[in-house]
Amino acid sequence: MSESQMTGDNRAIPNANPQFEGDLVAWRLAHGSYCRICPLQHMRKVGCDGNINSDFILTGEAPGKGETNYNRGRQPHGTPFVGKSGWAMKAYLLGPAGLATVTFKRGSKWPKVTKVIPFITNVAMCQPPKSKADSPQGRRALLCCADSYIAMLKELNRRKERMHIQMGASALWAVTGLTKIGQHRGRFKQIGVQQLKQRGFEAVAKDVLRGVKPPPEFAEHLKVIRAFVNAGRAAWRKACKPPTAPKAPKVSKPRKKKEKPCLDPTTK
Ligand code: SF4
Repeated sequence: MSESQMTGDNRAIPNANPQFEGDLVAWRLAHGSYCRICPLQHMRKVGCDGNINSDFILTGEAPGKGETNYNRGRQPHGTPFVGKSGWAMKAYLLGPAGLATVTFKRGSKWPKVTKVIPFITNVAMCQPPKSKADSPQGRRALLCCADSYIAMLKELNRRKERMHIQMGASALWAVTGLTKIGQHRGRFKQIGVQQLKQRGFEAVAKDVLRGVKPPPEFAEHLKVIRAFVNAGRAAWRKACKPPTAPKAPKVSKPRKKKEKPCLDPTTK
């Protein structure tokens, strides 16, 4: 199989690192996608598209409905940027930049995108409700998926230097930690592989589970756990208290009588 041959919706990955090959969705799931605490864990995952050896990596925030349902039944995962907005981006942004081949057919007002140069992916691999990444569930999914995205970028950038095109605030945040995109729009930023940081499960879980209402059975468990902890703590405090030693009776010391200075000059 050649390096650029397709496997389903994902490109086969060169064998330079045996751990980083085959299905890229599966690779990400095993390298920092915290699906068990993600609200989108039952959604169909969306992989990547394009040439993995490209000098350009284009990242969106999260897939939409078109991407999620793409070729359902024929390939295991969806494909990014194949919906209406993905097509518009390729035709009107990548085309004029020379990063996609756009052909105009006579009689048709819609241009056809035939070849896309960048490797395309998303930070989150699942579609948030109403395709809105900036929603409570979307933000949680981005947090849960960002570590595996960073792991993938590290692996890709270890092979060669690339130019990344971050589409949207979440894509910018995942790589740089910057939360506001306004002042960075259209600007270049140089980032080393060592600056790409994964947050780790504990830090992500802390943010993701903040304010999450536990399911009823979990609330029951919590009650039991709390009761146990409280009883245990009280019992522990009682047990750990050092026994109070009986107070020794106070022994009053005999007062020393002050000697009065002798005022008789005849006595020595
Ligand atoms: S968005 Fe990422 S972390 Fe969440 S369920 Fe999908 S693959 Fe898992």
